[in-house]
Amino acid sequence: RRPIIAIDGPAGAGKSTIARQVAQNLGLLYLDTGAMYRAVTWLVQQAGIALTDEPAILELVSDCEIRFDSSLGGSPSEKVYSGSAGGSGRVTYLEKGIGNPSQIFINNQNVTEAIRSLEVTSQVSAIASLGAVRQKLVEQQRLWGKQGGLVAEGRDIGTHVFPDADLKIFLTASVEERAKRRQRDYFAQSSHASQTLPSTEQLEQAIRQRDYTDSNREIAPLQKSPEAIEIITDNLSIKEVTHKIIALYES
Ligand code: C5P
Repeated sequence: RRPIIAIDGPAGAGKSTIARQVAQNLGLLYLDTGAMYRAVTWLVQQAGIALTDEPAILELVSDCEIRFDSSLGGSPSEKVYSGSAGGSGRVTYLEKGIGNPSQIFINNQNVTEAIRSLEVTSQVSAIASLGAVRQKLVEQQRLWGKQGGLVAEGRDIGTHVFPDADLKIFLTASVEERAKRRQRDYFAQSSHASQTLPSTEQLEQAIRQRDYTDSNREIAPLQKSPEAIEIITDNLSIKEVTHKIIALYES
């Protein structure tokens, strides 16, 4: 039996960091579903397709291939996923070693850094609200779930993608705290060093906007599953949250 831990919550609550830590500690794979929506958004932008042109977006998404590969610069003990978003049987699962931080490729282009740009961040919620896009990506996520035990992180994992997950966590923090964390992330990213960094106010505004779009869309909105255990991370360290989740999983 392959265990699945679902971690959902709004932007900046610490999901990625925590999910990665939990996965490493338990020897499970880490799946960042937000990175998949970001990669598709990047692809749409590259193709110059309007956000309103749903048929063109669907065509692009239906035969794109998304791959996570952590063998680049990672430890050799982890695993790699790859598969087509269409789920048309081309999915492979390579035991060639995970390793963090993992890299994400869409149609063989490494977009690991590009998907963190403000341009992608500001449009990803619009793309993620399209039913056809969600259907394709969720199909892929479920295939990966069948192949390996994993810690999947996103907005709809416990409610929609893996409703039978072994453990469901809902991570939150105040908007102020989340904006502060995002600001620290920007400072830490050297590629942003020469650009004007957004102010805390701008980041708070962007986070509120994304929370609103993610929570109010029609399909699989951001919601706490009734079975999920809520953890408010404002005053907790990464280590404390990680330990809490592992203890819950093992109990
Ligand atoms: O987690 P991250 O901030 O990278 O997610 C980017 C966006 O992708 C979210 O704001 C949301 O619109 C979308 N998303 C989603 N469902 C998921 C994961 C992310 O709709 N499971």
